[in-house]
Amino acid sequence: MTIQALLLDLDDTLVDHRGAADRGLRAWLTGMGLAQSPAELEDHVERWFVLEARHYERAQRRELTYTEQRRVRIRAFLPGWDLADDALADDVFAGFLGCYQAAWRAFDDAAAVIDRARRAGLPVGILTNGDETIQTNKLRRTGLLRDDVPVFASSALPAAKPDPRAYLTACDRLGVSPAATLMVGDSLRHDVVGAQRAGLQARLLDRHGRYDGPQPGAGVRTVRSLAEVA
Ligand SMILES: [Mg+2]
Repeated sequence: MTIQALLLDLDDTLVDHRGAADRGLRAWLTGMGLAQSPAELEDHVERWFVLEARHYERAQRRELTYTEQRRVRIRAFLPGWDLADDALADDVFAGFLGCYQAAWRAFDDAAAVIDRARRAGLPVGILTNGDETIQTNKLRRTGLLRDDVPVFASSALPAAKPDPRAYLTACDRLGVSPAATLMVGDSLRHDVVGAQRAGLQARLLDRHGRYDGPQPGAGVRTVRSLAEVA
């Protein structure tokens, strides 16, 4: 079936989340004097991303709010600090957040894919797992927020990806049929398998060639950049 609408993931699809988190984290740790050696810095970075993956996922499953998962993460990351007080935990986390936000960058091919689709008359939406305020702010600060491209953030949806309700709500709000909608993103589970189960078409964005060797699975089509999304 031809494609009549485009849904794009945000983190690591339009905006380099992982790169920004990595650069921001290193700047924050170094600024606080927490990394006394390169090895210690790497150890902190690794621990940070393990905690992020664990607790951010819990927020997506609605076991915690987005604010609560930050508090849990910062307390686990700095166990020797007395961060029992919520305001204190929020304040320390805000230090990282400032460095992370300063490092936000859109990928070079992000604005162009949105432009191309809109010029071709396709409705375009951004479907992202995350907090609506933060994700909208991220798009604004990277120059990608547009009046004609709505943002569907999971905090404001009935469920997060890969729950079918996430994709179906986005299609409904765009006024398009799921079968004629293409979802593009970097997560096999969230942007491809979940989308296909909900009846959408999907492409896996594999910027780093992670799936050059191991095949991502039957029926999964990959692109190396958003420039390949015609
Ligand atoms: Mg992503």
